[in-house]
Amino acid sequence: MTVTDREKSAASDGDSVTAIPHSTPDNGSGRQDLISAQNVTVRFGGLVALSDISISVPRGSIVGLVGPNGAGKSTLFNVISGLVRPDAGQILLEGADITDSSVQTRARLGIGRTFQRPEMFVSLTVRENITLAYRMRHARSRLWRDLLLPARSRAAGAEEERAVSEAITLVGLKSVEHARAAGLPLGHARRVEMARAIVMAPKAILLDEPSSGLDPTETAQFSRMLTMLSGERDIGLLLVEHNVGMVLDLCQRIHVLDFGVGIAAGPPEEIRHSEAVHAAYFGHAEAAEGGAF
Ligand code: ADP
Ligand code: MG
Repeated sequence: MTVTDREKSAASDGDSVTAIPHSTPDNGSGRQDLISAQNVTVRFGGLVALSDISISVPRGSIVGLVGPNGAGKSTLFNVISGLVRPDAGQILLEGADITDSSVQTRARLGIGRTFQRPEMFVSLTVRENITLAYRMRHARSRLWRDLLLPARSRAAGAEEERAVSEAITLVGLKSVEHARAAGLPLGHARRVEMARAIVMAPKAILLDEPSSGLDPTETAQFSRMLTMLSGERDIGLLLVEHNVGMVLDLCQRIHVLDFGVGIAAGPPEEIRHSEAVHAAYFGHAEAAEGGAF
């Protein structure tokens, strides 16, 4: 099977989700796992992009996934979100096997995600963009009709108003909620992405390099927002990041990949002092640039 075939089949495949008995994996927190990737292997032709990787995200926690370029971070992210089908291993959501579920099914079951390059309806306001995401999840049937109707004839339900306002406040966008999405600074656009994920009522959110393109101040603000979010909403966050410093500050548990192999996993203080992690980073050009340790 070629890579393209695999991606296609992963993106279009069946809806069945089977609950399978499993022992609770050791996630180092004692809390119930929301997402668990177990013994995942992915090959691209002769290249082993992921080799027997296991990682779990408990409720209300922030888990980091780091590693030098080419380590396999994006591949693991894609396996969990459903874009890439693993050659071996399983993905569980609250104990149910979702390895064969499509991206859409996983989203419906509560796996949200953000993109590295936020894409918004630029002619709509921040609030309207977030409202559309709410309707994608809660009122799909009215979505297209609403897009075609003038704004004043679109009545919003009280529950919708409440959910959207709450998400806007949570991510700190109140002051710009009526601004057009066009021309928003990247830091704000990333928050819109988060609010759109939040109104879809996810159990977990996967974040793809959320700090890329942000300056240190914006990164710190975004990090505080994530901490609050995981605490207040009990959402599990999986953070795929190039910025090791951000992950060390933010995550309760960190997994480090190098050439598709899991070389370390543990709380930040362990990772900070791990010889294997130092060796992996100092063997790569971006170690100094990351300035992580
Ligand atoms: P990271 O996100 O950590 O930089 P990736 O997961 O993107 O790493 O890539 C891991 C390895 O798999 C790299 O060697 C990359 O070239 C390879 N790879 C990723 N996606 C594909 C693909 N679709 N086809 C072939 N090789 C791929
Ligand atoms: Mg990547």
